[in-house]
Amino acid sequence: MNAATPLGLDPIVVEREEALLAPYGTRSVDSRGRKYAEPVHAYRSPFQRDRDRIVHCSAFRRMAGKTQVFTGEMGDYHRNRLTHTLEVASIARTVGRALRLNEDLIEALALMHDIGHPPFGHSGEDVLNDCLNDHGGFNHNGQALRIVELLEQRYPDFPGLNLSLEVLAGQATRDKRRDNSESDSGVDGKAILEVQVVDAADSIAYDSHDVDDALQLGLLHMEDLVQVPLWRESAERVRSRGGELGAAELRRAVVRDLIERLVDDVIESTRQRLSEAPSDAGPIVSASEGVWRQKSELEAFLFREVYRHPLLIEKRAAAGVSLESLFSRYLAEPGGLPEPWRSRVEGEGVHRAVGDFLASLTDSEATRLAAE
Ligand code: MG
Repeated sequence: MNAATPLGLDPIVVEREEALLAPYGTRSVDSRGRKYAEPVHAYRSPFQRDRDRIVHCSAFRRMAGKTQVFTGEMGDYHRNRLTHTLEVASIARTVGRALRLNEDLIEALALMHDIGHPPFGHSGEDVLNDCLNDHGGFNHNGQALRIVELLEQRYPDFPGLNLSLEVLAGQATRDKRRDNSESDSGVDGKAILEVQVVDAADSIAYDSHDVDDALQLGLLHMEDLVQVPLWRESAERVRSRGGELGAAELRRAVVRDLIERLVDDVIESTRQRLSEAPSDAGPIVSASEGVWRQKSELEAFLFREVYRHPLLIEKRAAAGVSLESLFSRYLAEPGGLPEPWRSRVEGEGVHRAVGDFLASLTDSEATRLAAE
């Protein structure tokens, strides 16, 4: 192969993918390119470059200050939006490598999947959706696209990050499906496999880390989890390996076992589906039926016992009041918006400009502004 590949890609990139990827893996050479044409990079693949652009953008860093499930005031053990994202990327790469898919594309998709979350987790999202109800609404998946296509200002020649069309299309499939429950990981079967991998990894990550965090925070106790078959079986597997474990060690070992079982199962079941005749029924990258059922039971348990915990309901209510009052304040006085948000009022309308500004804030920035 010489350097005159269709996209002018470095032949090393092309050869590397040819050697590593399964026939169904997405190849850089088949990329539909970017909205604004750019010369290809000398040695980075287009999806590798997308991944780097995401990591270097400000919305990515701001995830460090945004709630995943538990707020910053509740301690510093639990996951925030950024560390959740890194766990998703890690699991997704493991699954993607085992299935011989494009890891650069998977990593780009994973690192951007939650970039559109506002402060205060899903309560922040609900408040912004209410405030923007007559102006197109708000959801974090759509906001992620808005950020990477428009709001990030890093290049003089185009708005946003000008990511490859495959990355944008992948995020768009997240945007299109239901958005009220993160515990349904049903990306449709038509999304490319790399997108489906990220979706499966997202749900493995939050199921396992939310149990871990809730136990550490004392919102759950290990005795409570005995009624959840997925947890119980992992706990039995850990005990069967022998050795005396303290409560914290046991918790960590069970969480580790849980992740491993879920990842193993997704890889195995996906390999099985890939070896069968293609069907239209649901995603290809997914758990087996039995594990899927057990996983749903764990999610129902988490929903009941953790996401609806009185302490979280209280935090969410307070966060909602803060964000709502900020929305009204800036709506009444858009001149108080900092740049570049103030300049966006004219083109986007005041509601959207205020929504974009508030969505960009970290929890602590929003709390500080609301207290002013
Ligand atoms: Mg996520």
